[in-house]
Amino acid sequence: MTPAIVRTVLELRTAIGTWRKRADSVGLVPTMGALHEGHLALVRASQAQCRRTVVSIFVNPTQFGPNSDFARYPRDLAGDVAKLATVGADLVFAPDVGDMYPPGFATTVTVARISEGLCGPHRPGHFAGVATIVTKLLLQTMPDAAYFGEKDYQQVMVVRRMVLDLSIPVEIVAIPTVRADDGVALSSRNVYLTPEERRAAVRLNRALALARSLVEEGVASPAALERSVRDYISQEPLAGIDLVAIRDADTLEDPGDAFPDRILVLLFVRFGKARLLDHTVIERRTAES
Ligand code: AMP
Repeated sequence: MTPAIVRTVLELRTAIGTWRKRADSVGLVPTMGALHEGHLALVRASQAQCRRTVVSIFVNPTQFGPNSDFARYPRDLAGDVAKLATVGADLVFAPDVGDMYPPGFATTVTVARISEGLCGPHRPGHFAGVATIVTKLLLQTMPDAAYFGEKDYQQVMVVRRMVLDLSIPVEIVAIPTVRADDGVALSSRNVYLTPEERRAAVRLNRALALARSLVEEGVASPAALERSVRDYISQEPLAGIDLVAIRDADTLEDPGDAFPDRILVLLFVRFGKARLLDHTVIERRTAES
């Protein structure tokens, strides 16, 4: 069934109010549209847990930098609604920028520390934009659970911290990255890739596989692991590395000389006009286990 589309917070709250009177549980899937199977995996997870699923579609200007792709970010509401009809989402919330950021808007949610490392310096203001819009969407919808992709690993950490710090009563659920058959992580931004760049982008997932086997083989240190992954990606002439980082997957802290139990390998790499994000978490098997 085609989901209903609402444009204003008032309409959203009215629809949700009707469900709440029937004691229906509500899941929220925040997106920027241009939906693909990764987004639909989030919707399916919500439907498995919640009686009702709301999908928000909003290209949030405050999470884009001044010279980034806000203006050309792919927008296709009709196509998105058709995809959501195939999985049976209940409601699409597609607000206007002016409704989300009314004149005089002056409030920003900033999550210190966890927003500052990794992608933070490469995308100034991005995580504050994300934290602010996610806070608004959570307060507008008041869902039981909200669903996010692990693909945006740092984003999930920021959202979890924020929900905890602000006592927002919602369960945050993270869903594993959905990939194309060749291993490339699905992303709305993949449409920016030329066919040649799209072929070259497989190197990211292969670099993560390389990282897993190097850890398995007992690579000497986080620095050595980072060097090998970086070298492997650099061999692809179309790849421009912004970030290859080895971190503690639970804290995002730099592990120094010793591997943590859960190793995050995070990649942020440019291919032409697109900057692609990918990661893996490697559970280290200790000698005893
Ligand atoms: P976006 O529309 O790109 O802002 O993404 C909306 C949500 O979908 C975020 O929580 C993303 O992490 C998630 N997402 C994006 N790509 C994927 C993917 N390939 N697999 C799983 N989740 C994804």
